[in-house]
Amino acid sequence: MLFVPWQRLADWTCNTCGLCCKAYSVVINFQEWINIIKNYGVETTASSLNKFYLKRKSDGSCIFLYKFYNMHLCGLQHMKPAACKLWPFKILTNPKYGNAKESRYPFGGKTLYIYADSTCTGLTYGRPTWEFANHTLREFIEIAIGIRGEQNKSTANMSFNQNFASTRTFL
Ligand code: SF4
Ligand code: SF4
Repeated sequence: MLFVPWQRLADWTCNTCGLCCKAYSVVINFQEWINIIKNYGVETTASSLNKFYLKRKSDGSCIFLYKFYNMHLCGLQHMKPAACKLWPFKILTNPKYGNAKESRYPFGGKTLYIYADSTCTGLTYGRPTWEFANHTLREFIEIAIGIRGEQNKSTANMSFNQNFASTRTFL
């Protein structure tokens, strides 16, 4: 997988392709694990020596992923793990994936480094739009540092697709 510095992206929009819910195991923290097993049962999760995960179906997809018409939707909306909320972005305090200049993002007097996983099909390459740079990424940062839980810009907007009000509120 390749990580793209945010300054090479014009925008990002989730198109509900579902790829990220099929291709990866989702690591959840202890509190997320507790919440999920209380509500959905321990069988919806898996664990290794030191990590908890969401269970995957036999085709590799997340146990909470379901299909509705041509959209892949999330059935774990009200307790979606932070890892899912932050995908496809990596928000770091050091330029771990290189291109420090293009990944730099000043925030609250500090410097963060933001990259996107290039396998996401919702990336648009080019010069960042104002909205992407100032609203979308800010929301991802606020979720990453724990001062925001609600998703608005960081989730799919279904108005482009069959007039659904919003999703990735579904995914
Ligand atoms: S975040 Fe990207 S890969 Fe995941 S469903 Fe949306 S567009 Fe597809
Ligand atoms: S967004 Fe929802 S369906 Fe997708 S991996 Fe996360 S919990 Fe599963």
